[in-house]
This record gives sequence, structure tokens and C-alpha cells, in this order.
Amino acid sequence: MHVAIRCLIAFVVLGVGSVGGVGNAMERPPNILFFFVDDMGWQDTSVEFHSKATLLNRDYRTPNMEKLASQGLRFTNAYACSICSPSRVSLMTGQNAARHKVTCWTLRKDTSPARPGKQYSPANWNLNGLQPAGDKTQRSVAEVSLPELLRAGGYRTIHAGKGHFGAQGTPGANPLNLGFDVNIAGSYMGGPGSYHGDHNFSAAWRGGGTIWDVPGLDKYHGQTINLTEAITREAIRAVEKSVADKAPFYLYMSHYAVHAPFEPDRRFLPNYEDSNWNQHKKKYASMIESMDKSLGDLLETIDRLGVAKETIVIFMSDNGSPRNNPRNLPLRGHKISGYEGGNRVPLIVNWPGVTAEGKRNATPVIIEDIFPTILELARLDVPDNDGQSWVPILEGNSPPPEIPRELLWHYPNFYDQPPYSSLRHGDWKLIYWHQNQSFELFNLVTDIGETTNVAQENPDRLRDMATRLDQQLKDKNAQFATIKATGKPIPYPLEALSSRIEN
Ligand code: CA
Repeated sequence: MHVAIRCLIAFVVLGVGSVGGVGNAMERPPNILFFFVDDMGWQDTSVEFHSKATLLNRDYRTPNMEKLASQGLRFTNAYACSICSPSRVSLMTGQNAARHKVTCWTLRKDTSPARPGKQYSPANWNLNGLQPAGDKTQRSVAEVSLPELLRAGGYRTIHAGKGHFGAQGTPGANPLNLGFDVNIAGSYMGGPGSYHGDHNFSAAWRGGGTIWDVPGLDKYHGQTINLTEAITREAIRAVEKSVADKAPFYLYMSHYAVHAPFEPDRRFLPNYEDSNWNQHKKKYASMIESMDKSLGDLLETIDRLGVAKETIVIFMSDNGSPRNNPRNLPLRGHKISGYEGGNRVPLIVNWPGVTAEGKRNATPVIIEDIFPTILELARLDVPDNDGQSWVPILEGNSPPPEIPRELLWHYPNFYDQPPYSSLRHGDWKLIYWHQNQSFELFNLVTDIGETTNVAQENPDRLRDMATRLDQQLKDKNAQFATIKATGKPIPYPLEALSSRIEN
């Protein structure tokens, strides 16, 4: 709490919110619209993030993303975690997943979806997710999170859509306990029962139970409205009220789309009916276009309300596209996997009057950076964290660093994909596979598709990368599964590398 108080003091000392400050666009902190899409792959858009247009860029329709990219800055090496909950906790806390330890997806209290099999005992991960600071829920991370700091700094904090912070039955399940003033349709679940209002946004109609029921949208039940549209309408209402009240807003527009269940948005499905694609791709394309329509509606709203010039818009996805969807070529892998298809995501930032229009930036950035970036944009104090603010990049005066930054991923769980840790440093990427303690080394500039493991030909580079990965993991006290036969955890990378060389 002391951090929040310090921020509040800083806010007042800076004169923001003092008499004469309110209502003055130059002195007021900017509004922040964080538009977060769920499970949207790097190529699931008509905006090009690769060096050339891909098949999916040509197939999908996202005109509002194109407009945003033409106004703002497009990041071509942006990353999240490879799965929902870790990404969401990282953006809320600024901590890397190896540190906050919410490394897999959360749902039921005290329950892990991971099945480590007979050979391993599971890593001690925080399966109850994110909780408010001071909370005592076991196996959770309890922190002052981003909206709490923004609220203390004078922001109206609006949560719209998917929460997925704390497990069912914990305080963190409710966004109102994590610093949000307003909660539209958010709860513990990582996916909606249904996208269709005529199914009451529930999976009950197909025998899927009620645990995925989307809360708070009863007024739309029974209507042929899409969930993405319903949440957008409510979010627009909250923004209108915030602007009318002259409160700077932080809109966390966190869509359930384009996560499973794969149900079409009936408004857009006809656009794809003449194609020769399979039904799944047609449905998925309609969900992408639906999400993009929401972006367009929100951009139109800030324009109509006269606040577009004082609103910073950040567009991002929380992980790669799942295996059901068309492959995100040229990337290898998909959601949860250790390859680029798992964690490389679209990212666009428009800071009116500051970001260069329609430019690209290749600096590798990662989701925990959101925390310091948004706090700096809001002109608030930034507590210690694992991220780096993008403000120097956005302002266009960020020289290339002499020593490239290290980006870390850690997935010690046995759910859907084998456990791994990985590191990007400059052009290079190392993946450490926990089960057989093997390494893959790739040069992402010459081999973005991770087709050729060059570890054997580059022993010095391999050792250097393994050393960096080892240090990063130890710095964050990363947890590993335990090998039952030996009673010991899976070794850290350097120990594994040494034993391979000795053998
Ligand atoms: Ca996700």
C-alpha cells in the first residue's frame, strides 16, 4: 500500500489534478486504452508483422488494426508468455513468469490442469493465480497490481472482458479486488461458455456445464448478439462516463475473443462463405474480424468524444494461436509450445503526437514491460519489476543497446506441451527442454522458423546462452518439476549442459 500512497503523493506534487489541471489536455495524464486479444497469433491479422506478407495476412480482415498501425508504431519482435494466466499476471505485476510462478492456466481453486505423469512430481507453481497485496491464499502471488497503482494515481480503471487473474473462489477472481473501479464481464475463467447471446454466453446448451458462464451480461441473454459486441458496448458506455466525469481512464479491454470455443460471429461469417477454406477457418476469420470491429468502435468512440489525441492505444495478444487454427507460418509451434508460434504476438502502440506514424520497430520486447511502460506513460512512480519501459522506443530516441537485452520464458508444467525454459538474447534463442535436458539453439534472424538447431556447431554460443539462461532462472528462483527416481528437481541449465559434455 505504501507504494500506492507514494504514487498518490507524486501525483499531487506534480500538480496533476490540482485546480487548473483538470480538463487541461496538456497537463492531464493521458487516457490509456489497452486492447488485449486472447490467443491471437502473430499472423492472425491483415497487418504485416513479418518482413513480407504471409498467406494469413492476405486471408484475414483487420482494417482497424491496419488503421492503428498506420497511425502508430508496430513492434515486430514482441512477445508474451505462451499461455494465458502467466501473461496476464506478468502484465499486472511486471514480474516474469519464473518469478511470479503462475506458470500454467488457472481455473479451480487448489487444482492444476497439468498431468506430470509417473516420472515427475509437479513444480510448485502458483495455481491459485494473482491476489491482492496482503492476501493469504496459499500458492498465489499477492501483489499491488497495475490498476491499483493507476487508481491511486487518479485514473478511472475499467475492466472489460476476460479477467483470468485468480482461481475460482479466491479474491483475485474478481477484478474489483485488484484495483479496477468497474468490472464488465470478468471473472476467474479463461474462456467464455459461448460467444452467443442466444446461448446466454454459457456452455450449458451443449452440455458444457456452467463454470464458464460469462457474468454480468444478463441483459443480453436471449439476444442474437455476439459476446465481443456486448462487451464493447458496455466498455464504450464506461468510457463515455469517464470522459463526462473528466477522469482520465485506463480501459483494460481484454476480449475473450479469439479464444475457444470457436463459434462464428454471424455478422462476419458471410464474408468467408465463398472461400474454399474449412469450416473452422471460416469461423475463426469471423471471430478475428469481430475483434477488429470492436477496436474500430473504440477508436471511433474516443474520436467522437474528442479525446483521441490524449489517449494512448496499445494493441497486443496474450500468446500465440492454438494448434486448432491455421499455422502462423513462418513461425514454428503454437500456443503453449516453446517455439516462436507460442509466444510471439502482434503489438501496436499509438501515442498521438509522439510515435512516428506507420513505422516498424524490431526491438525485442515482452509482456512484463507493459507494467513499467503504462506507469511511466501515466507519469507515476514505477516499483521494482522485471520489465523495461518502452517510452524511449516510443519517443524514437532509443539507441540500440550495446549489450542486447535478455528475454526469459519458463514453463515447468506438463500440460499439452513438454516443459521448457528459453532465452532470447540478440539474434539468438536457446530452448532448454526439461524432460531430456537437451538444448536447441537458433539464430532467429536467419532462421525465424526455428528449423535448424545449431547448438552443436556453436559450442561457445551454446555455453554463453546456457549461462545467461541459468542466471536468469536462478535470479527468479524458478521452480522445476522433480524427478521421482532421484528425488531431485530437474537441474538448472548449466548443470544439465555440464553433465552432457562430461558424458
Ligand atoms: Ca490466451
